[in-house]
Amino acid sequence: MTAGKSWVPGTDGSGYGVHHLPYGVFRVGDGEPRIGVRVGDLVLDLAGAEAADLVLAGGALGRPTLNTFLALGRPQWTAVRQRITELLTDVAHRAAVEPLLIPLDEVRMELPFEVADYVDFYSSEQHATNVGLIFRPGQPPLLPNWKHLPIGYHGRAGTVVVSGTPVVRPHGQRPSREGPVFGPSARLDIEAEVGFVVGVPSPLGRRVAAADFADHVFGVVLVNDWSARDIQAWEYQPLGPFLGKSFATSVAAWVTPLDALRHAFVPGPEQDPSVADYLRDEPHQGLDLRLTVNWNGEPVMRPPFAGMYWTPAQQLAHLTVNGASLRTGDLYASGTVSGPRRDEVGSFLELSWGGTEPVTVGGTERTFLADGDTVTITATAPGRDGLVIELGEVAGTVLPAE
Ligand code: CA
Repeated sequence: MTAGKSWVPGTDGSGYGVHHLPYGVFRVGDGEPRIGVRVGDLVLDLAGAEAADLVLAGGALGRPTLNTFLALGRPQWTAVRQRITELLTDVAHRAAVEPLLIPLDEVRMELPFEVADYVDFYSSEQHATNVGLIFRPGQPPLLPNWKHLPIGYHGRAGTVVVSGTPVVRPHGQRPSREGPVFGPSARLDIEAEVGFVVGVPSPLGRRVAAADFADHVFGVVLVNDWSARDIQAWEYQPLGPFLGKSFATSVAAWVTPLDALRHAFVPGPEQDPSVADYLRDEPHQGLDLRLTVNWNGEPVMRPPFAGMYWTPAQQLAHLTVNGASLRTGDLYASGTVSGPRRDEVGSFLELSWGGTEPVTVGGTERTFLADGDTVTITATAPGRDGLVIELGEVAGTVLPAE
């Protein structure tokens, strides 16, 4: 056996080798949902593996969602990952494990975890600046609080859907010169984001320190926080986003464990002014994830995650600093990921500069989403030994308003 090499054909050198091993929930035909881990273009049936005593997780892998497994905590997450790696690299296990491998095209992916609470941040300085310039021209683009705390709001957990779920164009009120009009959104947009999945809960009344990030957070999913800009523009003052966001938020079907991303952590940006003590994270680290947004299959934006102003550990410390508890299955997203260049932004609002500068997609000029459009967000990250990790994609197609 060669260290780190898998006996599963076609997996070494792919973005889904044994250096990655993301978790998801799948069905075969009308079967019950089962937990699996992706290796190459195959799913290892972990429910089957646990039933056969090939991996031990106290029954947590025999559940219809990842939540029980997420609640186990980091020592167990790491032990299970090590065992799965053994199973997929040591040929002695091949005869037992091979029957548990199912081709991806024979499964249907489900939402990997039951979402408890959903929080969405606003952590990209470039995105916050661009939105300020577009929505509040002539005023300072960043509001006075922005560099003192990670701005966020509580979203709607029940409308978080798995990649591939169609998104129906929402109805709502939108502003016009003659006053508000009601109808389908005319400015449907995306937000390319990175989501963090909480495993280990915390009790009400107790703060979670930034240093305890890896004890609570299991892993990462790509997120598309679909946004109806016209509904949002009319409703958002004074309480913030509401129906312009809550109609759907898509997450990838595969959760990449933090254990796979050890080589992707990079120093976070310098923060000036200095932050409150509870927001100090040591080390101050972001993640080198490189996103690509594909509009009907055409790559149109490449947002870099590494430069996000607020780190995931700071976001966790902030969302619990008032004593708010964490629950297993909590999802908190980074906010739109935007880099400094126009083709590095994470929304069509920015790409088309508020709809004033159309872009050419598929040979036609476009600003916001049309019915039938498909948006697919992908990302890569550096893995061990120079290998590349491909995060599970998050895709969705816009259906006409009902
Ligand atoms: Ca958002």
